[in-house]
Amino acid sequence: MLKISKFGGSSLATAEQVRRVCDIITADPKRRLIVVSAPGKRHSEDIKVTDLLIAAASQRLTGKIGASECAETIERYRSIAAGLELPAEVVEPIARDLTERLEKSTTDANLYMDTMKAGGEDNCARLIAQALQARGVEAHYVSPKDAGLILSDEPGNAQVLPEAYNRLRDLRERPGITIFPGFFGYSKQGNIVTFSRGGSDITGAILASAVRAEVYENFTDVDSVFAANPSIVKDPAPISELTYREMRELSYAGFSVFHDEALEPVYRAQVPVHIRNTNNPKSDGTLIVPSRKSTDIPVVGIAAIDSVCCIYLSKYLMNREIGFGRRLLQILESEGVSFEHVPSGIDNMSVIIREENLPVKKEKRIVEQIRQTLGPEDISVERGLSLIMVVGEGMRHTIGIASRATHALASAQVNIEMINQGSNEVSMMFGIKSDDMETAVQTLYAEYFA
Ligand code: ASP
Repeated sequence: MLKISKFGGSSLATAEQVRRVCDIITADPKRRLIVVSAPGKRHSEDIKVTDLLIAAASQRLTGKIGASECAETIERYRSIAAGLELPAEVVEPIARDLTERLEKSTTDANLYMDTMKAGGEDNCARLIAQALQARGVEAHYVSPKDAGLILSDEPGNAQVLPEAYNRLRDLRERPGITIFPGFFGYSKQGNIVTFSRGGSDITGAILASAVRAEVYENFTDVDSVFAANPSIVKDPAPISELTYREMRELSYAGFSVFHDEALEPVYRAQVPVHIRNTNNPKSDGTLIVPSRKSTDIPVVGIAAIDSVCCIYLSKYLMNREIGFGRRLLQILESEGVSFEHVPSGIDNMSVIIREENLPVKKEKRIVEQIRQTLGPEDISVERGLSLIMVVGEGMRHTIGIASRATHALASAQVNIEMINQGSNEVSMMFGIKSDDMETAVQTLYAEYFA
């Protein structure tokens, strides 16, 4: 059996971190397939290599040169290599590669941007392979193209194509330790395309599913997933185990430890995910599994999505009007707006949308189309809302979870504008004013975890 281990950017930001990563890789002979991100921030004010590359690409796309950002990126690799006492020549092909990328044609701006972004992971993987080789370990870089990671032709937001899985399965047979760059693959036309930001998690999940790994270890910079956002709740409880569905709900609502799109491949193949800390590999971490033994814990976490808005409309006898909902959603579709939830009553419907997906100009057009097509008596758009999610599989079997939440929110003077419970009963959602968001999360955390 084999383990997939993915290391995030903060685990690869300095030579010291890379040394730790190499120690972890070599500590377990089952760690034979390694996915790496690009070097991340070395301290809170630092810039991630991916952001430096985006800055360089943006310069070129606006007719400038981007040389200083590119040089800064090369310098990051140089300082890691120097700290690892690798020979200086190791950096030469990296410098050449990044310079060549920078000078590529910018005719297709999206493809150019993705080619630049992918340079962060690609060169990091080459460097880590060399760092392991310098320790006398058999390690090889593999290109996602040679390995068969074929993605949809959607620059910056690609998705894996089903045929990739069969081809990637052969990675199992490779000798030694394989170092695979995260975040990007190739379209059928042979172009580099990247996943959305943070997408190295997705690469690891696809590989874990393709080779049917025993476990997908996701090494990051925290000891575990916590029951609430530590910037809102002081010292929140660690979660030792949670299900894919619970993690999906939490990452949907802003828990950024694990990319939400990364859950689908591992869920399908039923590969457990182990979130672990590179800086504290002895800690237990968090295990994401198909089903949880401890259903006596009804709620595992409280999450919040800030900056959502709600289109509210009402029309008398709406419930008799066949196709009302479809026509409403079609208007959003034709404007390319994705929605989050559609709570409805007898004569009214609300559509919850992330504010970033509904700029004011679009809002005006959509409202006008709704007025003309559906003739509502009332239509309004409310901005500045938050969605609070109470998440836990155990809620299904426990009476009174909702009543505890509403009671706690009322005691904290938080007005609930909307309640929605998904039919799978893994989460309960409360719509409130964004000004109350922190109070609501703290109050609900205290209710279920204190
Ligand atoms: N380096 C990419 C990013 O910063 C992908 C990743 O780290 O997972 O988004």
